[in-house]
Amino acid sequence: MGFFDMNVQDRVVFITGAAWGIGQALAAAFLDTGARVAFIDRDGQAGRAAEWELATRGNVRFIEADVSDEVAVALAVEQVLDRFGRLDVLINNAGLCLRKPLRELSLAEWQRVLDVNLTGAFLCARACAGELMRRKGVIINIASTRAVMSEADTESYAASKGGLVALTHALAVSLGPDVRVNSISPGWIDVSVWRPGGFQEKLSEADHRQHPAGRVGVPADVARLALFLADPSNNFLTGQNLTLDGGMTRKMIYQ
Ligand code: NAD
Repeated sequence: MGFFDMNVQDRVVFITGAAWGIGQALAAAFLDTGARVAFIDRDGQAGRAAEWELATRGNVRFIEADVSDEVAVALAVEQVLDRFGRLDVLINNAGLCLRKPLRELSLAEWQRVLDVNLTGAFLCARACAGELMRRKGVIINIASTRAVMSEADTESYAASKGGLVALTHALAVSLGPDVRVNSISPGWIDVSVWRPGGFQEKLSEADHRQHPAGRVGVPADVARLALFLADPSNNFLTGQNLTLDGGMTRKMIYQ
């Protein structure tokens, strides 16, 4: 057992969007500590496949649900409490990225990204708040460095992640001292092995070298930070947004 996981055994972790990518890596990491994991995803087929794979690591339950659906989220949280009897950690990870020039971006597309990335986190936090307060629990929001910097044509995604960082400190103040709430803002995380097909993306030397840390991130980087935030002994840390980007947002790039 490692340092970070010594206090998380037997706790119940609820993760959104864990059928693929960072979410699935988070589920695996928490299961490896002995925690029980429930996750929701809108992709039923991939969710069931992930549940089957993750079951080799521990006690895991998948529920098909869309994070932006108020009723589905409330029902999913009820099912988690029925099955596991408690809930200690909520990780709002489900996310959607849309690249589209501003003048072509429809209101419906803008709203869909906000609904999934921001409103979904609000709905899950609200549905879990009572139980998390009883358990002195933790909320971890997976934001993005795109909350503070942008490429062109990513308005909806950037705005949703900026909103998620703000929601994080608002929740920390409202739910404290019972519940600690922090966000992780990853930079470039290579999730290719956790995507359909599972093939490692071919990254170039330059992809890695441009990072002050010397490499592109991997989902395990996010998982280790989430384990740290979920550890009850780290209870002086709340309301913060932790950037996990290999130093990219600290690098001046004027040409
Ligand atoms: P991914 O696309 O591999 O995984 C996202 C998961 O969320 C999928 O399983 C998908 O089915 C699920 N999902 C999408 N919409 C949903 C909905 N409405 N309801 C329920 N589930 C839904 O993405 P990822 O790269 O693993 O990203 C995970 C999180 O990390 C996202 O919030 C993303 O914005 C954030 N992030 C990723 C990176 C990166 O480089 N990969 C960087 C910064 C932030």
